[in-house]
Amino acid sequence: QKAEWAKLVNESTVSKDGHHVELAANIGTPNDLKGVAANGGEGVGLYRTEFLYMGREQLPTEEEQFEAYKAVLEGMNGKPVVVRTLDIGGDKELPYLELPKEMNPFLGFRAIRLCLEEQGIFRTQLRALLRASTFGNLKIMFPMIATLDEFRSAKAILEEEKQKLISEGQKVADQIELGIMVEIPSTAVLADQFAKEVDFFSVGTNDLIQYTMAADRMNQRVSYLYQPYSPSILRLVKMVIDAAHAEGKWAGMCGEMAGDETAIPILLGLGLDEFSMSATSILKARSLIKNLNKSDMKNLADEVLNMQTTSQVVDAVNAAIK
Ligand code: PEP
Ligand code: MG
Repeated sequence: QKAEWAKLVNESTVSKDGHHVELAANIGTPNDLKGVAANGGEGVGLYRTEFLYMGREQLPTEEEQFEAYKAVLEGMNGKPVVVRTLDIGGDKELPYLELPKEMNPFLGFRAIRLCLEEQGIFRTQLRALLRASTFGNLKIMFPMIATLDEFRSAKAILEEEKQKLISEGQKVADQIELGIMVEIPSTAVLADQFAKEVDFFSVGTNDLIQYTMAADRMNQRVSYLYQPYSPSILRLVKMVIDAAHAEGKWAGMCGEMAGDETAIPILLGLGLDEFSMSATSILKARSLIKNLNKSDMKNLADEVLNMQTTSQVVDAVNAAIK
């Protein structure tokens, strides 16, 4: 089987009935690019930049960040690279920031919430990204967006930094797509409104499932509630994809669910445009999608959206892909 998959490295990902989807990779550092190439990644769908900030004594400088972003953009040779701005907090702490302890870190001061408050940190990262933007196909994505106001504030700060750089005579790419992670239920529910203002969505199912089911993604005792195939989660995902398409935008997914063999047939049927996963899952996913008819998977998706339980959904997928 591995040998069969290896033949697909240089192929694009097309369903049996001719529909293309993009299979991208999640990365944490420029070193991960070797794995992306070896596994035929069509892009980077999630670059988790927080690793630049972790395991050290102080914040990374603009220059250090610029070098890392440039290396990733150049390494991908013009293929799309979605860089997520700093998502710290929750389970990821930065000792040198000395933030107060919180009762519920996953519901607390993290990601875009922190960046909109600690604007120095945010602006440094945005400047590094904007300066790197001429070295490839950069798309910028904000994490943990809960309201349109947050998105608008973050976008306004990005615009300010862009204008500053331009007035300093620095080069910045003309077109940089700007998107958001959909990982908070409020944003999935309001996706039709967000879709008017963002260029793309990427569904972060790791957090979306935790927040929808009110079940801590790290807590074993409640892990039975962590149900990617729950019709409730699938309906939220559908809302996001439909909202994007209604405005001519694209929708991706960068949570673990995007590389899951049981979820992929449903996601293909729902019309997901981009699947971002760990590089080592890409060839297997490509092989699976090549053997599926998108039109059949659309029927499967319609069916499972009206089911009552996760186990019914799993049974229906297994029956459909036999
Ligand atoms: C997610 O929440 O699905 C996601 C991709 O982000 P992280 O796992 O880094 O929270
Ligand atoms: Mg997340």
